Amino acid sequence: MAQNAPPAAGGLTGNYFERNCPNCAAPAPGEAALQAHGLDVINCPSCRMTYTRQVMDEAADAVRYQASEIDDEAMNLHSLGAFLELESTRARYYLDRIGGLNPQMGSMLEIGCGSGTFIVEAGKRGWDTLGIEPSTAAAALARRRGAKVVEGYFPRDVPADRRLFQTIAVLDVLEHFAYPRRLLAAVRDYLEPGGRLFIQVPNWDSLLVQLEGATSSTVCPGHWSYFTPQTLADMLAREGYRAVFVETVVSELDRVAHFSKAEQLATIKRLRPSAEVTPPAGGSNFMTEVVLTPAQLHGLKLGYKLIGLFERS
Ligand SMILES: [Zn+2]
Repeated sequence: MAQNAPPAAGGLTGNYFERNCPNCAAPAPGEAALQAHGLDVINCPSCRMTYTRQVMDEAADAVRYQASEIDDEAMNLHSLGAFLELESTRARYYLDRIGGLNPQMGSMLEIGCGSGTFIVEAGKRGWDTLGIEPSTAAAALARRRGAKVVEGYFPRDVPADRRLFQTIAVLDVLEHFAYPRRLLAAVRDYLEPGGRLFIQVPNWDSLLVQLEGATSSTVCPGHWSYFTPQTLADMLAREGYRAVFVETVVSELDRVAHFSKAEQLATIKRLRPSAEVTPPAGGSNFMTEVVLTPAQLHGLKLGYKLIGLFERS
């Protein structure tokens, strides 16, 4: 839909506006670090945050989201077989990381819970869960799977009797906000003192995204902020959160393997100049076409997804 594209890519001018750094408010420099889909991707000279200069007006973005909403049938495919198993395994790992540090299960809100995989798994562990989700189809599927879900938006549609939560989870949501600090501030008001916020965003500093650059699927209208382990922790600190941990999740290695070992080595050298890399011997399996092991990628925080647990201070 061209009318939803940024003006530089033929879209409607009125749907977009330009902004300064969403982390430190410094003016956006004239020069973009890269351009894709008519968007200028900016590196903030003051705080190192990476973000798009152009963002879609919230109302236009919501209309676009509803128009691209996946239907019931597509949703059901997501909740079956290998896809569901992978997502459930990931959810259990995240719950280990959250609960392992704070074994007392309390109340948990997930903002943008989709088809409910994360809160369904959390419920099995004893968390008292609630999801909030704008997509009708996703909210309905999550309910069929046994999750308690409110269809709507945070914070407007949080039930009045559910004011404070011990943990709030926000997975693949923060990058969609033109003003992500406003969401973090609103979340803070819904956390108990000492409560925790669990976040997942794409990792801009990942080996894959840095190899793909402007062609990465991570760079698209709808993703307005691109976080690294440093800038995520920086933004959370500015909103009064203390980092409990920040780490990356390694996946998509088949996509990394499409790049030559020389390209991978050059990118790792640029991202982590002090890392020692000994390329493994060649082989026929894609894992041997990736110059770092999953453990090394994890240690260097170069995984595709970025997760963090933050405590309200
Ligand atoms: Zn900045």
